[in-house]
Amino acid sequence: MGGGGEVSNGINGEKWTVKIPQIKFTKLFINGQFQDSVSGKTFETIDPRTEEVIASVAEGDKEDVDLAVKAARHAFDHGPWPRSPGTERRRIMLKFADLIDEHLEELATLDAIDAANLYSLGKGLYIHNAAELIRYYAGAADKIHGETLKLSREMQGYTLAEPIGVVGHIVPWNFPTQMFVMKVGPALAAGCTMVLKPAEQTPLSALYYAHLAKLAGVPDGVINVVTGYGPTVGAAISSHMDIDMVSFTGSTETGHRIMQAAATSNLKPVSLELGGKSPFIVFDDADVDKVAPLALVACFYNQGQICVAGTRTFVQEGIYDKFVARLLEEVKTWVVGDPLDPNVNQGPQVDKKQYEKVLSWIDRGKKDGATLVVGGKAYDRKGYYIEPTIFTNVTDEMSIANQEIFGPVMSIMKFKTVEEVIERANKTKYGLAAGIMTNDLNIANTVSRSLKAGTIWINCYFGFDNDFPVGGYKMSGFGKDMGMDALNKYLQIKSIATPIYNSPWL
Ligand code: NAD
Repeated sequence: MGGGGEVSNGINGEKWTVKIPQIKFTKLFINGQFQDSVSGKTFETIDPRTEEVIASVAEGDKEDVDLAVKAARHAFDHGPWPRSPGTERRRIMLKFADLIDEHLEELATLDAIDAANLYSLGKGLYIHNAAELIRYYAGAADKIHGETLKLSREMQGYTLAEPIGVVGHIVPWNFPTQMFVMKVGPALAAGCTMVLKPAEQTPLSALYYAHLAKLAGVPDGVINVVTGYGPTVGAAISSHMDIDMVSFTGSTETGHRIMQAAATSNLKPVSLELGGKSPFIVFDDADVDKVAPLALVACFYNQGQICVAGTRTFVQEGIYDKFVARLLEEVKTWVVGDPLDPNVNQGPQVDKKQYEKVLSWIDRGKKDGATLVVGGKAYDRKGYYIEPTIFTNVTDEMSIANQEIFGPVMSIMKFKTVEEVIERANKTKYGLAAGIMTNDLNIANTVSRSLKAGTIWINCYFGFDNDFPVGGYKMSGFGKDMGMDALNKYLQIKSIATPIYNSPWL
């Protein structure tokens, strides 16, 4: 397989070496084995830093999904995983988490070269946090129970919380590690078996995680990974008659297709974590020196490729000039470059398609009459690098203000009153997240309760936590990831009643 090599760099000349691993896993993972696709076809995964091929990966199709579902179905209907005591699932999941920690550097590097996630954050944060999320759900595996019901007749009733069955997970490319553990962790704890399709742009770490899960003792057939494209593998999963539920993260457009496929096949429930156009609202009393750098991170983090990015920056008129001036100072310190370099804040966009899409949105903003104050073009170098871009004088009607760009593009908008900003912030089809920057408790309470968004951060942004459910309102979808809400979506409730005195039914 391809890969291998070293990259050196460092902060203030300090030595920092990243070893690029040999790519070990490139085949479909079905029933505990790495195998070629039925067709024998492969596709290339590209390094967005260099535009070069990292590896050729097996290209799955409907036949491969059928094999993976068969394995998952057998593991669910006859295998030990759904039947094992929660303590046994916990034990294996804790081992899986330890293995993730043990392979931290390799996993961080895979996501850096495949998805352009910053290696410094992968090594310092993401991979360990992924292990912690598996531990969080491991801790829940032996605490799944139903309720005792107080019925109105002489009957006893109770509910059982049972695993929902074979789950299809379909995920995007922006955070391959987080997507894998967010979907697989709670489904494993619930006792489900599954088929996961990573995004075609970033298939590598999912295959590695599947391998680690097997090493930890997750039985064959419980986790299957089918790499390939959306219209083939993704569509086969969402329309499969033997998949009991689909948990999807991706665009709203694909969300529509998944729901249609579920509706016209076996009426499987779906959970949809979709796009967003989140407001980051700065009130007059905010501390500009703290909030301007936060606004920058809220918008440009991960190259702007995060569903909850705060891309509509609403600034109250009393603080507007000061805030914009401070933001323009701050953006000068924002470093764009190789995601393996620890000095870098922003790497390349994930692929050529996204790169071109973001550049066309920037052109659209210029044509629509917004004022470009920073950035606005690609870097003249290899790789899909785009300048952090800031527009002012953006109106709510402009497409850069109401369409999800999924790139490093900020739209700054001025507002006068609390009522006005609530109305404008809600004026979008999306409802994923919002940030509220104020020290006024009345404003914070009023605005947080009035915004139609699933996640609100007050005086912080990206305040994610294992125990913090995230998910959308409106066309940002429904169903939560993270927290106990995510576990619950992989469970179904069975209600059982029996007469107390064993008397015949009246
Ligand atoms: P996408 O919808 O194009 O792809 C997501 C996944 O769906 C990929 O694995 C893709 O192969 C698959 N897919 C594509 N067509 C399909 C089809 N017809 N049937 C089944 N599966 C299909 O999205 P993307 O471009 O990969 O990711 C970016 C989008 O994801 C953005 O809109 C972003 O906001 C959203 N996202 C949302 C969240 C969240 O938690 N709400 C998190 C991350 C990303």
